[in-house]
Amino acid sequence: MSEKFCQSCAMPLGNEKDYGTNADGSRNDEYCNYCYENGEFTFSGTMEEMIEICVKPMLLANKGMTEEQVRNSMKGYFPTLKRWK
Ligand SMILES: [Zn+2]
Repeated sequence: MSEKFCQSCAMPLGNEKDYGTNADGSRNDEYCNYCYENGEFTFSGTMEEMIEICVKPMLLANKGMTEEQVRNSMKGYFPTLKRWK
């Protein structure tokens, strides 16, 4: 599995189609296609708002973790991502 993660939402960037796109249509290596499209972020809220959006998909991806555990792990991890530093 790839070690790359979206630097906005922490989604794993495993497949070519997961990557965002630059303004010229080329691949953006740092952000996923949900966060970054045609050179612009698709979501312009705060880190806390981004975490709330990500709680549900993260819960589905991490079966066995509680919502609180998922939220706490994101609150620890998101500030290390490039977009929120
Ligand atoms: Zn993302």
